[in-house]
Amino acid sequence: MSDCLFCKIVAGEIPAEFVHEDERVVVFADINPKARVHLLVVPRTHVASLAELGPEHDNLMAHIMRLLPVLADRQGLTDGFRTIINTGKGGGQEVFHLHVHLLGGEDLPGF
Ligand code: AMP
Repeated sequence: MSDCLFCKIVAGEIPAEFVHEDERVVVFADINPKARVHLLVVPRTHVASLAELGPEHDNLMAHIMRLLPVLADRQGLTDGFRTIINTGKGGGQEVFHLHVHLLGGEDLPGF
């Protein structure tokens, strides 16, 4: 997707410091952090949102779910962490390339 911000970050066309990368995802800090730790887990492949997932993405999503606690542990979030996936305009999604927010490092407010 030539006009996708996160595709450009994945491709290295827009700078971001990856705190983790593997064959399926890149992980970098949110530019506008909502907590002391605020990472974005971004698939290398372009999927617009949860609403566009198909069975071909099952391994990718399992990989992300299992990676999240590993990333949290590496960030020192021993007390717990929050994960958020915004989906669609009504869900507050701003960047239409699927990503998981990983937040923690302080007491987060309840919903
Ligand atoms: P969402 O509202 O779930 O689509 O979240 C998009 C997130 O991307 C927001 O929290 C933004 O702060 C973040 N963001 C936008 N541009 C960048 C960027 N260049 N580098 C890191 N994070 C970004």
